[in-house]
Amino acid sequence: MWKMIRARIQQGYRTVPYPDGPAPALPPRYVGWPRVDSNQCPAECDRCGQVCPTQAITWAPDSRQLTLDTGCCLFCGACARACDAGAVEFTREFRMASSRRSALVVTDQSPLPAVELDQAMRQILGRALRLRQVSAGGCNACEADTNVLNTVGWDLGRFGVQFVASPRHADGLLVTGPVTRNMRAALEKTYHAVPAPKIVIAVGACAIAGGPYRGHPEVHDGADSVVPVDVYVPGCPPHPLTILHALLAAIRGSDARL
Ligand code: SF4
Ligand code: SF4
Repeated sequence: MWKMIRARIQQGYRTVPYPDGPAPALPPRYVGWPRVDSNQCPAECDRCGQVCPTQAITWAPDSRQLTLDTGCCLFCGACARACDAGAVEFTREFRMASSRRSALVVTDQSPLPAVELDQAMRQILGRALRLRQVSAGGCNACEADTNVLNTVGWDLGRFGVQFVASPRHADGLLVTGPVTRNMRAALEKTYHAVPAPKIVIAVGACAIAGGPYRGHPEVHDGADSVVPVDVYVPGCPPHPLTILHALLAAIRGSDARL
């Protein structure tokens, strides 16, 4: 018993201080919110588009506009490595969630996206959120990075956010995966079992737009083709910090210090 108490004291407080303190250090290979500069692109170039596995980046020579859709992006960084002109780069910005799908499409000078739920929804959520997770056919990495938020290192429960077993006890859904044909009915039934009003959070490139499975006949290319989505969280998978920021922004508002 005393050994346990001593070990606990020696270990100290291990939960990340974010959002009241600094965010934890991101790994050197972390790839965050992109920045594009169409002015750097030679007219005949399309190297970034050719290396992209999901057609997330496009260069339109006629309008001279480079467009990167972070909703489809796997954050592999191949486009930035392929571009000699420096027209595409990835920052270390982890705050990438948005309540508008269109805000995930990055062009020159695009602002950071924001989670802006209407006041009525925020009042209903109050300062707590109960979610039912629906794994709709992804690779499980998005679930793993969501699950890690329940560990002592992140302690999601301190924010009043919990995952519940029954959709009838939930304020909304957290959906991962591209929504396979086999999971469509399950997602619809779970959505309808959540009492209204409800929130739907799509986590990962699959749940936003199909991810690496995009366009396959066995998937629906994202949750919003089946149920209305309120918050989109880009990444493949999104870093736990990105998911945590999205959840806090949903209950506290984008004007909160996050
Ligand atoms: S980082 Fe995104 S846009 Fe760039 S090549 Fe990879 S998937 Fe495509
Ligand atoms: S978005 Fe990427 S990490 Fe998440 S389920 Fe799809 S393939 Fe896996």
